[in-house]
Amino acid sequence: MSVYLEHGLMCPQCYGDSSLVIDVRTTVELTSAGSIETGSHDWDDDSDCQCVDCGHYETVKGFRPTSDPVDTAMCLWEAALETPLPKDLGAAEFRGRIRDLVPDCDETYNFALTLGYDRPFDWDFCPWFVKICGETQLCPDDWRILTQEMCHAA
Ligand SMILES: [Zn+2]
Repeated sequence: MSVYLEHGLMCPQCYGDSSLVIDVRTTVELTSAGSIETGSHDWDDDSDCQCVDCGHYETVKGFRPTSDPVDTAMCLWEAALETPLPKDLGAAEFRGRIRDLVPDCDETYNFALTLGYDRPFDWDFCPWFVKICGETQLCPDDWRILTQEMCHAA
């Protein structure tokens, strides 16, 4: 079970969902010996939250994914199956590569949307993204430039 599957939250920075720290509200009874929690604890979208994996910090609202990373991974996988598999990768390593592409793919797609991109994510964007990934190692600035070129060519 993961934090995402249990609570619908994951880090927007690293997509980690193994452990998040949230400031909660609770009720305590104060005594001379200290405090005893008497109520349940609760949080909402305005509660502060931090990713244990990378340290990213913002409110809980920012930890609710705007897209489903599982859907993105499946779309990338479908696209990857249409391209020749790298000969030097085993199946598990290849799955790991696809999983690692999810944050960049979502970020790049959201950037493309701001440029007016309106073609299907699964049948158009992901195949383009996987094809580019197979050709070279890219940094975020490369993605922005390539996305701008792709959107203006459409
Ligand atoms: Zn993180």
